[in-house]
Amino acid sequence: MTNCIFCQIVQKQIKANFVYEDEEIVAFRDINPQAPVHILIIPKKHIESLNDISSEDEQLIGKIYTVAKQIAKSESTAETGFRIVVNSGPDAGQAVPHLHFHLLGGRKFSWPPG
Ligand code: AMP
Repeated sequence: MTNCIFCQIVQKQIKANFVYEDEEIVAFRDINPQAPVHILIIPKKHIESLNDISSEDEQLIGKIYTVAKQIAKSESTAETGFRIVVNSGPDAGQAVPHLHFHLLGGRKFSWPPG
């Protein structure tokens, strides 16, 4: 989508600090980090939110978790702990309408989230 900021990052029209890329997925550092490690893992395909995934995306969504595991390891948070967050829709505070998985680590998190 031309007016989607994350699609523009995928297409390298907007700069981002990439930590991972393959043919289907990119991961880059969040511009406003909420933890020492805060990385966004996104499908290159424009999917607006979790509400918009379909059965044909199952392999892709599964792969995102495999990528998250690899990044957690390379960011040295695999052992100390990390959190994957997917905000979906207004009540969850989703600000960017392109499906993204927050990988947060490097500090302790409280539960329940605010
Ligand atoms: P959410 O509230 O779940 O939609 O999260 C959107 C996230 O995208 C926020 O944590 C923002 O800081 C982050 N973000 C927005 N624009 C950029 C950008 N250009 N580069 C990196 N992260 C961004």
